[in-house]
Amino acid sequence: MIPFYASLPAPDVSTIAMPPRPRIALFIVLASAAIALAVVTALQTPSGPVGTISSSPTVRPSIVATVETDPVPHSRDAADDPVIWVHPSDPAASTIIGTDKKGGIGVYDLTGRQLQYIGDRPTNNVDLRSGVSLGDELVSLVTATVARTDSIVAYRVDVETRSLVEDGTIRTGISPQGLCMYRSARSGKLYAVAVGGNGNVEQWELFAAGGGQVDARQVRSFRVGGKSEGCVADDELGYLYVSEELEGIWRYGAEPDAGTSRTLVDRTGPGGHLVADVEGLTIAYGPNGTGYLIASSQGDNTFAIYRREVDNAYLGSFEIRAGDVIDNVTDTDGIDVTTTNLGPAFPGGLFVAQDGSNDDGNQNFKLVPWERIIGG
Ligand code: CA
Ligand code: CA
Ligand code: CA
Ligand code: CA
Ligand code: CA
Repeated sequence: MIPFYASLPAPDVSTIAMPPRPRIALFIVLASAAIALAVVTALQTPSGPVGTISSSPTVRPSIVATVETDPVPHSRDAADDPVIWVHPSDPAASTIIGTDKKGGIGVYDLTGRQLQYIGDRPTNNVDLRSGVSLGDELVSLVTATVARTDSIVAYRVDVETRSLVEDGTIRTGISPQGLCMYRSARSGKLYAVAVGGNGNVEQWELFAAGGGQVDARQVRSFRVGGKSEGCVADDELGYLYVSEELEGIWRYGAEPDAGTSRTLVDRTGPGGHLVADVEGLTIAYGPNGTGYLIASSQGDNTFAIYRREVDNAYLGSFEIRAGDVIDNVTDTDGIDVTTTNLGPAFPGGLFVAQDGSNDDGNQNFKLVPWERIIGG
């Protein structure tokens, strides 16, 4: 409406010295009002089909979890970081792989039941990529950090049993807690990026070492600054995001030759939408380079959502509140998300968050249908 009126020529003051006759003036006023009403009505009538993709998606500020996993075996701050494995032929048989930083790594089905627990070493962060060529096979390759032994451990997912099978150990030069994987759309190469608690980052190129084992060579290292852990890479757009816990989210290039130039996506404190510690990061992939970057804002028990596109515009934050059956989510470390249909319980995809305080046992992971969090 404003452009409509603004486009009318400004009245020439010199021509209104003689006022127009009142009836004509009234007619003009009424006619103008009728035209304005018609224009407003036309603007308010939807012109496209219902369900058209919205240019400004809505983040629902408060939702409840529909499933929680069995508690991890160890008490206190033990559960840490999840990753979702999507079953190749039966989406409802997909699993959550979750770490226990006091003792191991577990596998849970989509009802939350523990299917496997490997309790031989405390494990910090975990990530995976599927369709990885290893020997003669295409596998889902999982990597996880073990800070206590300065190492990254590789596993594959056995599709029949949905369990983890160990595939090798890589010794890093740091004590890595954070970990994310990157598969370059440019080169096809696969990397594990390890983040030490002191802010040291090491990028390792993964390759098959024979006998179905995984080995790696270091291709980059740099310092973020302060204490850091959470990270995620955008395979298609070539970005590496790292959480510096007291400061905010940094975006780097993910290729090994990308150097150390970086952009601050969002910050803690004035002007930011995050409250320290900034923890887990994950990416919800949409079509054509669209989608969302999600961060755990541990200090206010919320999750912040940004556009995946290069401006990383902030869209809103949400909490996972207590429902009738499942308790709320607080003090979250790791998160993961998929936009893949995982069957009747999660038809629009799945968001998973570590919960720092579980009302009926040790820490665990909470599951939320993705379509409940964000709408078009
Ligand atoms: Ca914690
Ligand atoms: Ca993870
Ligand atoms: Ca942390
Ligand atoms: Ca809780
Ligand atoms: Ca509970």
